Amino acid sequence: MTIRELDQAYVAHTYNRFPVEIVSGKGSVCRDSGGKEYIDMGTGIAVNTFGYADEAWQRAVAEQAGKLQHTSNLYYTEPCARLAEMLCRRTGMSRVFFSNSGAEANECAIKTARKWAAEHLGPEYSTVITLRNSFHGRTLTTLAATGQEHYHELFRPLTPGFVHVDAGDAEQLERAFRENKAAALLIECVQGEGGVVPLSRDYAAEAEQIVREHGALLMVDEVQTGNGRTGTLYAYEQYGLKPDVVSTAKGLAGGLPLGATLLGERVKDTLGFGDHGSTFGGNPVCCAAALSILSRLDENLLAEVREKSAYLVSALRAMPGVKEVTGLGLMLGIRTEKPAADVVAACRERGVLCLTAKDKVRLLPALNIPMELLEKAAEVLREAVK
Ligand SMILES: *Cc1c(COP(=O)(O)O)cnc(C)c1O
Repeated sequence: MTIRELDQAYVAHTYNRFPVEIVSGKGSVCRDSGGKEYIDMGTGIAVNTFGYADEAWQRAVAEQAGKLQHTSNLYYTEPCARLAEMLCRRTGMSRVFFSNSGAEANECAIKTARKWAAEHLGPEYSTVITLRNSFHGRTLTTLAATGQEHYHELFRPLTPGFVHVDAGDAEQLERAFRENKAAALLIECVQGEGGVVPLSRDYAAEAEQIVREHGALLMVDEVQTGNGRTGTLYAYEQYGLKPDVVSTAKGLAGGLPLGATLLGERVKDTLGFGDHGSTFGGNPVCCAAALSILSRLDENLLAEVREKSAYLVSALRAMPGVKEVTGLGLMLGIRTEKPAADVVAACRERGVLCLTAKDKVRLLPALNIPMELLEKAAEVLREAVK
């Protein structure tokens, strides 16, 4: 059987895969089983922060794997402690809970909010308000948080205690806080799966004010927007927000599974012994990988992300067939005249891998993609959207 046949026979059919079998990669270029090369503008959905087989990342992973791959959270390990320190120093947050995915990072955020609110606002303050068109994960609780009905339909009953409001409508948010005993607001600064839709800065500021007036927690889901993706270490910085909780995952460990829930001063002691846990959380190899990634996400690199973004946005906006370009940094959505899936297929034919998000083409290239490759990819896109 071919790999495709084996996969179709034995792997659960939850993914509609592109007809490509990727076998290897280096930097922003990967190769399929037929030897065809592609410029990767998707990085495994914002995961391979510095592309494939990045040398410093590889070294960090191999060294740690050769020393200590796992201990459980019953013991102290250096990569976990150093990564937590680095995340706190870089963000001003106070403590970190490590898990293995974005959904788990959000689960921890939600558990933190419920326990904190029960202790500080009252036991009935359990509601978490989220935005319509959001995406927070696939577990039953993070699906409940996700403000898109079509994900819910087949899986009820979902975890109760979530209320969804329209992004951009501060009055609705104010009403939701008045009508519900809410522990927290959970938002994405740029809705990724929802179609690369940034919140307006005015709305984000109003939302933060409403949260503060009601004494609740502000929680920002930076699973996709985080770790340099939008041109700052975390997107909330660009919005001038001061979140109490930040969840992140995807690009954090550059291709290994790692989730992190950053806890601010107000909630740093909310979860105590036995309140939460994860067997793999804070895994030494994943944390060593993340240390390698984060230590290189400095001001120079972030400035480079913003420059590449400016180039790509203006190149895309000038293309016939492009109706709108949205997003921040190297997280961009393109509304095209042709169906997005057709554009993605045409790009793939021409050796460029792109993604979709709702009805848009979505670009999430490696943060260190060389300018020549970005220009080549833009040329291919120009042909594909026309
Ligand atoms: C991808 C994503 C998640 C879910 O992350 P998983 O690692 O797939 O569990 C949650 N929130 C946002 C904003 C995401 O983009």
